[in-house]
Amino acid sequence: MTADAELTFEFTPNASPVPANERAERLVNPGFGRVFTDHMVTIRYAEGKGWHDAKVGARAPLTLDPATSVLHYAQEIFEGMKAYRLADGSAALFRPRENARRFRDSARRMAMAELPEALFLESIRQMVRADRDWIPEIEGGALYLRPFMFASEVFLGVKPAAEYLYMVIASSVGAYFKGGAPSVSLWVSQDYTRAAPGGTGAAKCGGNYAASLAAQAEAIRRGCDQVIFLDAVERRYVEELGGMNTFFVFDDGSIQTPPLGGTILPGITRDSLLVLARAQGLTVREAPYAIDQWKADAESGRLREAFACGTAAVVTPIGSVASPDMRFSIGNGGPGELTERLRDQLVGIQRGELPDPHNWLERL
Ligand code: PMP
Repeated sequence: MTADAELTFEFTPNASPVPANERAERLVNPGFGRVFTDHMVTIRYAEGKGWHDAKVGARAPLTLDPATSVLHYAQEIFEGMKAYRLADGSAALFRPRENARRFRDSARRMAMAELPEALFLESIRQMVRADRDWIPEIEGGALYLRPFMFASEVFLGVKPAAEYLYMVIASSVGAYFKGGAPSVSLWVSQDYTRAAPGGTGAAKCGGNYAASLAAQAEAIRRGCDQVIFLDAVERRYVEELGGMNTFFVFDDGSIQTPPLGGTILPGITRDSLLVLARAQGLTVREAPYAIDQWKADAESGRLREAFACGTAAVVTPIGSVASPDMRFSIGNGGPGELTERLRDQLVGIQRGELPDPHNWLERL
């Protein structure tokens, strides 16, 4: 632990928290990302001073100078993770160290100050302790934590900023897709790519999401739920969705997912599913998969199932794929057997209902 990681958090309870009855009402059907809790974490960084001023206080708007660097050059990164309520009423985080590490990796790619992992973890624990009553008790309910950091220096020069503000906010969430989404339909983007070699695809920076929105809007216009991106070089290999990784399940029982090569976000759900699949003795490949191969395999029956995965939507079956020049369905359009089994295992561990052989849960 560095000295920075031992910062003491000053805790100021929200003087006017949402009343219990109103909170209970909001938690019945929170949706995704609209119901926020009473508190937020802030930690400041300044060159020469390091990390300082760690606080948990009332959630409140920010006041920013119009020349704040992030508003111009987008030095911004974030994370997404969930706290779950376990059967005994306690709260638990799922593999939070992986989020701490990815946040640090994202910071490095964006030439930002790196938050010590211990400080990241402590900020998350503080936030869950302050707002644990906001974890909905509905099925699929969780407290979605959003740590993020941006260049707060007031300066218009194009250079790595000398000051950063790190924050954590939290949002009560239900299932990401209403009704648990039996399956999603995908639109293959031909005009847009998400990430190029040497770019920022493996970092969780806001700019990646801004760049994906036109493609996602196109998918919706074409009657699909989500966009799927191909590689930027050959425009041939499947990469990922705007906010989820992808998996393919074959008739010989093997599974495949695109390899991490700098253009794909290294999903923690992806990694967890790889571990679970290997532990079951399944053959697992991290290898490129071409879109024309996907179509041929879906049509021949060699491909049995496909699914998308991520913290928000967990595991979601892919039902169909379309582009201007093709359209194909996968299986019978519903969740496949292996997709369901992996999902149930993962959710069972996250909720403390199944044994946790890899020590992924951190109880608070
Ligand atoms: N890809 C992208 C682009 C994402 O935004 C996310 C969500 N963080 C994922 C994949 C899945 O990552 P994780 O399983 O860590 O949530």
